[in-house]
Amino acid sequence: MRRKIVAGNWKMNLTFPQARELALHLNTWVNAHKPNAEIIIAPTHLYLEQLNKDLKNSRIRVASQNVSAMENGAYTGDVSAEQLLSIGTKISIVGHSERRAYHHEVDKYIGMKISHLYKKGMSPILCVGEKLEDRESGKHFDVVKEQLNIALERQNPEDLLRDFIVAYEPVWAIGTGKTASPDQAQEMHDFIRKTIGNQHGLAVANATSILYGGSVNAGNARDLFEQYDIDGALVGGASLKLEDFTTIINARG
Ligand code: 13P
Repeated sequence: MRRKIVAGNWKMNLTFPQARELALHLNTWVNAHKPNAEIIIAPTHLYLEQLNKDLKNSRIRVASQNVSAMENGAYTGDVSAEQLLSIGTKISIVGHSERRAYHHEVDKYIGMKISHLYKKGMSPILCVGEKLEDRESGKHFDVVKEQLNIALERQNPEDLLRDFIVAYEPVWAIGTGKTASPDQAQEMHDFIRKTIGNQHGLAVANATSILYGGSVNAGNARDLFEQYDIDGALVGGASLKLEDFTTIINARG
């Protein structure tokens, strides 16, 4: 079902005590303010087990930042969907541009990750987005379409209908302070919904929550959320500061 969502991708930040403290303060705020939006935080794998326990009865969902494309076996350093599930994690980011850039992840493998998650009854937050040179050469729609088509080509529409989140994160907007304008983001979100619709049907397209990510902050969130196809945000830097993150959650309404 299409939902309002604000997700924080903590990336490789925060020590264990800092992460617990931020999660607990966020939980206290959520209990006091009861926001409409669904809230997700994605700490490093290392802290998932404890944060799942700390937030057991909370409305905050704890996500993994990544998952292996393989089911199990000799893949040193990787973490499988089954392992994540065994400590209570039910949702994972896949295909983040930092994984694509620094770990050479390609769409076919990202699709395998999504399949493993759904096979275990878990669900993905699929990140897509073009690089600056793609946008400057007018190829941004083609790039995003290919990312979606390959990652989703083997997925079962029933799974996607149950719980599917896409995050549009233009690479040039991540950590740069340069957000896509609300119009640019809306144009791409509309395109993403149509692309999913062409591949998997209107019902799936209309049930998909599409988040914008890339330099979202307390000052620009509201204008982005006013756009029809922007269901929420995947927030990096600003999710590490309680005041900024809660302002973004409030802006989502
Ligand atoms: P920033 O909000 O720091 O630009 O990061 C966005 C992001 O990559 C979220 O996954």
